[in-house]
Amino acid sequence: MYAKRAQPHHPDRQPVTIQDLIQSAAAALEPVSDSARLDAEVLLAHALGKTRAFLFSRSDEHVADDARQAFDALLARRAAGEPIAYIVGEREFWSLSLTVTRDTLIPRPDTERLVEIALDVIDAHGFSRIADLGTGSGAIALSIAKERPACSVTATDINPDTLTVARDNAQRLGLSNVEFLLSDWTGALSGRRFDLVVSNPPYVASGDEALATLAYEPSGALESGPEGLDDIRRLAIEAPGILVAEGKLLLEHGFDQGDAVQQLLVASGWRDVRTWRDHSGQPRVTGGVRA
Ligand code: GLN
Repeated sequence: MYAKRAQPHHPDRQPVTIQDLIQSAAAALEPVSDSARLDAEVLLAHALGKTRAFLFSRSDEHVADDARQAFDALLARRAAGEPIAYIVGEREFWSLSLTVTRDTLIPRPDTERLVEIALDVIDAHGFSRIADLGTGSGAIALSIAKERPACSVTATDINPDTLTVARDNAQRLGLSNVEFLLSDWTGALSGRRFDLVVSNPPYVASGDEALATLAYEPSGALESGPEGLDDIRRLAIEAPGILVAEGKLLLEHGFDQGDAVQQLLVASGWRDVRTWRDHSGQPRVTGGVRA
């Protein structure tokens, strides 16, 4: 005879279906998330090691106790305010699935606009040597490397742990036209010349109340002095040193920083300074040509 396996006894735990579990988790997340149901689905799929599509096709099935416990633990992290991307360890950006950790900013859709503009500039001028300064998870560098395989992309970051995440992302995505260098802005790039420098630098003002909602993300990737302009100012001054003549700079910035960034670039001698709007109509990217 087969030995009868003891069933764990959970008097307070009735069998629960996938559907019920999503329902109650979504209700629990409602106060902390504006995408509570989606969050609940993503976390349950993660706990089960399945896709969201699986959840929809098996919504009446019961969830095993161990998976429920794993789900509860993920749910507790989300309820405490931790972003979904850190809990599941990845974020989709420009159709690339990127690993993200607490050492990287979570890539935003706004930054996809910077990638679009960069690709247009690359095509219009036949640029091939591209630098992405402060690459974080590698979002910008890897999107450009993927879309323009003939370009060689140099991605830098000041944090070695961050750079490891970016390098691993490149490897997993099979992108070999991108190199990674530890660098404080242009510090490690002296003697190098690029056609285009792009960056999504930290640009949140130190006292900005938005920082409270960004508490899980690395402050070094977000904060940049009293007006949020310290790093943009440095890039405006340093970038000409690593650009060819007629080389270009494209910087992401806050929705209310367009004029200030234009002034900074003009004051540092950049030509043809202009600003592009993001998909919500806000000024988001400002660039210029090396004088
Ligand atoms: N866009 C980010 C935000 O949520 C800031 C990113 C950055 O500082 N580069 O405010």
